[in-house]
Amino acid sequence: MVGQADLIVINARVWTGDPAAPEAEAVAVTGDRIAAVGRRADVEKLRGDRTAVIDGRGRFLMPGFNDAHIHLMTGGAQLDRVDLKDASTPQEFARRVGERARRSAPGEWVLGGNWDEQQWPGAPLPTRQMIDALTPDTPVLVHRYDEHMSLANSVALRRAGVTSATPDPPGGLVVRDAAGQPTGVLKDAAQAYVSRVVPPPTHDRRVRILERALAHMASLGVTSVQDMGPDPEDLAVYAELAASGRLTARIRAVPAEVPLAASLAAGPIRHPTGPFFRISGAKGFADGSLGSTTALFFEPYADAPASRGLLADEMVPLDQMRSRLVSIDKAGEQLCVHAIGDRAISMVLDLFADVALTNGPRDRRPRIEHSQHVAPADFARYSSLGVIASVQPYHAIDDGRWAERRIGQERAKTTYAFRSFADHHVRTAFGSDWPVAPLDPVQGIYAAVTRATLDGTRPGGWVPEQKVGVAEALEAYTIGAAYAEFQEQNKGTIAVGMLADLVLLSADPLKTAPAALGHLRADVTVAGGRVVYDRVAASGAGR
Ligand SMILES: [Zn+2]
Repeated sequence: MVGQADLIVINARVWTGDPAAPEAEAVAVTGDRIAAVGRRADVEKLRGDRTAVIDGRGRFLMPGFNDAHIHLMTGGAQLDRVDLKDASTPQEFARRVGERARRSAPGEWVLGGNWDEQQWPGAPLPTRQMIDALTPDTPVLVHRYDEHMSLANSVALRRAGVTSATPDPPGGLVVRDAAGQPTGVLKDAAQAYVSRVVPPPTHDRRVRILERALAHMASLGVTSVQDMGPDPEDLAVYAELAASGRLTARIRAVPAEVPLAASLAAGPIRHPTGPFFRISGAKGFADGSLGSTTALFFEPYADAPASRGLLADEMVPLDQMRSRLVSIDKAGEQLCVHAIGDRAISMVLDLFADVALTNGPRDRRPRIEHSQHVAPADFARYSSLGVIASVQPYHAIDDGRWAERRIGQERAKTTYAFRSFADHHVRTAFGSDWPVAPLDPVQGIYAAVTRATLDGTRPGGWVPEQKVGVAEALEAYTIGAAYAEFQEQNKGTIAVGMLADLVLLSADPLKTAPAALGHLRADVTVAGGRVVYDRVAASGAGR
């Protein structure tokens, strides 16, 4: 490497993730790639008058986080919505809705909610009159935190045609005042009267949603995401921001398998393959979720003995699922199938074995998304078939509060079984499943390392035998996730020639008490050699 670097980071404790040279003091970047890694004196040789310098001040520099499983636009839309969770009075509730309406484009819906009237003095249900004066031209539909009720304002009720004459639908209730007029509160099935007239987001709104998601990612040190099953309209937004250089994190979009198989049947597909935006692979579903008792198990649910869960629609008939997966694999695409219950996981492993047998050996890296509850005999099959466990550790400390009631002790032993995967040499990729769980990777690392459930009842960890170490968690969130998208030659380690995607953490996670891991912060985030987030600058204090 000749000439001067564009950026150098000095005085850092560099965790490279590269087994050949695991530690360093400084890193130099030229263009969007890493030009040097090593001792400060060596890196300083590349410093010139145009070189930007970040003083790590002893902090921890690592490869940017790669979230292997998110729902990018759903998460961004959530950031873009009004949040009323801690609005502790009706006045505060109304103020927030009104403020959101003022910031919206004319006629654009205000959505979101999470309100909880039980916090309010006397616990009155909200009414449309509380917000109508603040939202004269803006339709509003905001749901209660449990989503069993929503409040619509008068504009929204008008658009939906809900009047005093509207009947209560089966399974729902239009709450009415003494004069028989709707108050705006719609319970259960009645919410659909209004929700079905909410238009899909416009292109401009999608752009704004993506920009909010990108800012959130940058603030957390996330420089790559793998977006599962995006809407086709969102792909156009990703492409547009990629083309204009506005993506601050790399997006790999994984389209849904059913439509992909249909397009493949019509002829070869040319997917975008740029450094910041690629479409590749195919996302399928084998079952439901543990929370809704639809994850498919071999044995019945402990708390619902009549049920073993449900197969996803696309698994029926199984022959068609198999032939779609075979054709997608034949086209060279990676298979990423959601499977949560042990039986669903076993069936997907069978399908992956069939695919490999039919199409012959190749480096295909099939993934099982979630890989939550694994039958003990199946760990060896993950490893022999080269299947990647794409897991979201935060779910373990969230579901861990109640999962054992649902599946019993025995199955809990191989639930979120990160240690068992490691022991069986199964490649693991970490992700968040945002917005189902927080996007913040240090929360996932905390979860994987401590397994301390959110309710505080298991400080020593739920099924502590399945804990992993901090270094393993960092790997799963960087090189593991990169491998899971065939990008380990470009990302996931700090080494010469790799993409300059970096995060400077507030402290060294390897020297942080496990209980405090979730308090680590991204101080500086670099994507493709460009500083996309700087906590000090973001707080307005200047450097
Ligand atoms: Zn998901």
